[in-house]
Amino acid sequence: MNQTQDNNEPDYDVVGLGFGPSNMALAAAIDEHNAAAGASAQLRALFLDREQQTGWHKNLLFEDASMQVAFAKDLVSFRNPTSELSFLNFLHQHGRLADFFNRGSMAPLRIEFVAYLRWAAQQLAHYVNYSSEVVRVVPQTSSGRITGYEVDIADANGVRTVTARHVVLAGGLQPTFPAGVRSGARVWHSAEFLERVANFEASSVRSVAVIGGGQSAAEVIEQMYHRFPQAQIHSVISRFGLIPSDASAYANRIFDPLAVDEQFTAEPQVRQALTDVHRNTNNSVVNPNTIAALYDLEYRDQWLGTERLNWHRAARVKAVREDYESRTVHLELHEGLGDGPGLLEADVAIFATGYRALDPTTVLGSHAGILVRDDQGRPSARRDYSAHTVLPDDAKLFLVGQTEHQHGISATLLSNIAVRAGEILESILSAGQGTAMQAEIRKASA
Ligand SMILES: Cc1cc2nc3c(=O)[nH]c(=O)nc-3n(C[C@H](O)[C@H](O)[C@H](O)COP(=O)(O)OP(=O)(O)OC[C@H]3O[C@@H](n4cnc5c(N)ncnc54)[C@H](O)[C@@H]3O)c2cc1C
Repeated sequence: MNQTQDNNEPDYDVVGLGFGPSNMALAAAIDEHNAAAGASAQLRALFLDREQQTGWHKNLLFEDASMQVAFAKDLVSFRNPTSELSFLNFLHQHGRLADFFNRGSMAPLRIEFVAYLRWAAQQLAHYVNYSSEVVRVVPQTSSGRITGYEVDIADANGVRTVTARHVVLAGGLQPTFPAGVRSGARVWHSAEFLERVANFEASSVRSVAVIGGGQSAAEVIEQMYHRFPQAQIHSVISRFGLIPSDASAYANRIFDPLAVDEQFTAEPQVRQALTDVHRNTNNSVVNPNTIAALYDLEYRDQWLGTERLNWHRAARVKAVREDYESRTVHLELHEGLGDGPGLLEADVAIFATGYRALDPTTVLGSHAGILVRDDQGRPSARRDYSAHTVLPDDAKLFLVGQTEHQHGISATLLSNIAVRAGEILESILSAGQGTAMQAEIRKASA
């Protein structure tokens, strides 16, 4: 940790890792604050994103895919329904309000949501540097307290360092493979789908394995079915069949802002039980429309005698080997129903096996010891999403999207990003006031 002088002013009040929806929502809240505040109370904020432009899960951006969330859970509306950065205003500005509502769905298309994010990003452009990767975050201390952070940023010109009072880590979800599996020429994660599939001619793929039973897996199955008309599609799922997502009203309440308070203050075992039982609102489940579309394909093919969907149920992949000579992937399966152990040979294998939250250790490196962790090794955060640190902190490190174990199931989703951004802003403003007040007291007593 770097020692600093008390009177060192940081370059920024807030530096954000990532400019996905979470930190865009925070930038929108800061922008509103700055517009209303006097010059001396404005926050200097900088957000860094390693991508060249604003996007959203670009490798799963299928033209006909819908969001799994209502339009009003945008960057701002649940915090400030009158904000100019609302999805409704985006539609209004593009003359599409009536067309959107005539469609009769509350969920925007994914391509529409990205267009909305890009429109909002243009209005927040003064806060963001693209093609800029945060590679290191180093706490600065003075008199045994955390007083700020140094942030190393890699861009086309090399690595530069900025200083920040507060840092917000919102790097999103990271794709995960089963143990022992790695990405290769013919083995991908679904998060790589569109850029990888573009390398294959329609006639070159005869057999595809898709591992996983969630929304991404179902969409990838559908995509592969249509892109490779000669291919047999093998779905490897741990269940008997695809399970529909629960979007019913009472279950949906678990995403409400007030439910975050309830879950945060609940006993850990109650919180965990609720997360487990309501995981079917979001994880490892499939939108009923996607299930119906797949079933219709299979049903029609049965009549035509052209069946191409094959289900390996109660199954798991035991080993994967990519054979570069024969240009195939060999999957060793264990099927709980049917033949038990077996081999599956495919031209490509796509693992739609989920994501995990960013681990702050990736940027804190040898300084990760500043984080207080729970008995399962997970970083512990306060209600305002700031990390519990082993040293007292005047400067905060916010862990966004990394605290499902404390803030509940909405922590990694869009449902609560607007309200969460307001809570983080409030926390930054009150910490700032505290610091300014302490500086005044020190000045007066000097
Ligand atoms: C395929 C898919 C579909 C989803 N659909 C929905 C949905 O319909 N509804 C819903 O509520 N949730 C959905 N989610 C959950 C998803 O996490 C949220 O929608 C949302 O993307 C969270 O926003 P975020 O800003 O926290 O993370 P992200 O959107 O992942 O943004 C993180 C950003 O950080 C950047 N970044 C990462 N590391 C660095 C670094 N070191 N330096 C600089 N930049 C960095 C990335 O480039 C990225 O732009 C989906 C997730 C996936 C994977």
